[in-house]
Amino acid sequence: MSSSALETRLTEVDGSIADAARSAGRDVADITRIVVTKFHPASLVRELHALGVRDVAENRQQELQSKSAELEGLDDVRWHFVGQVQSKKARAVRRAAGVVHSVDREKLVSALDAPGEDPLDVLVQVNLTEDPNRGGVRDDDAPRLAEAIARSESLRLRGVMAVAPLDEDPGVAFERLAGIAGRVRAVVPDARWISAGMSGDFAEAISHGATHLRIGTAITGPRPSQV
Ligand SMILES: *Cc1c(COP(=O)(O)O)cnc(C)c1O
Repeated sequence: MSSSALETRLTEVDGSIADAARSAGRDVADITRIVVTKFHPASLVRELHALGVRDVAENRQQELQSKSAELEGLDDVRWHFVGQVQSKKARAVRRAAGVVHSVDREKLVSALDAPGEDPLDVLVQVNLTEDPNRGGVRDDDAPRLAEAIARSESLRLRGVMAVAPLDEDPGVAFERLAGIAGRVRAVVPDARWISAGMSGDFAEAISHGATHLRIGTAITGPRPSQV
């Protein structure tokens, strides 16, 4: 893709984010736009970086590791991990990512915890569907998982993350997420982040308090097919 197309999309999305924030009576400075670069080559991250993007996300451990290694010299990039973390790959994810959005079970808390190391920012991923096969904890289990993270030595709980269900109005789902975020804040008052909103639903997420948007295709264009 030409850089100017990328720049145009980025500018348009950022404009829509600003509009949605204004409509919601929120300060756009309280919203972090993360560009999801999964399946794209490291060169795309480099182009985004040249356009001022500093927060990027991946959803596969292998890809996170290889891209972040390839781009090691790039200043101030913050790698967010938004995919399922296998316990045995937890340390590798921890080494490569600045933020892990997808903590969904207690076993992963101990696998990610690395006493003596710098704290790692994490979020509790909440499953907003009835389908137990989708990623995330059930809403009622979120506070307990938050407690487990709070007890860890080297994980810093920042908030909650979720993906809107396919078969529900995203606004309704994000409203529920805002309620769960409140229950998590009752356990860890500093855990104020709400990571929600993708290409198709970020405006609804903003109106329900999202602080971190994970936007892929609306900025990057279609993803190269998954290998
Ligand atoms: C791919 C992905 C996104 C971005 O999706 P788009 O629809 O391309 O914006 C956001 N969150 C997660 C967890 C993803 O895996």
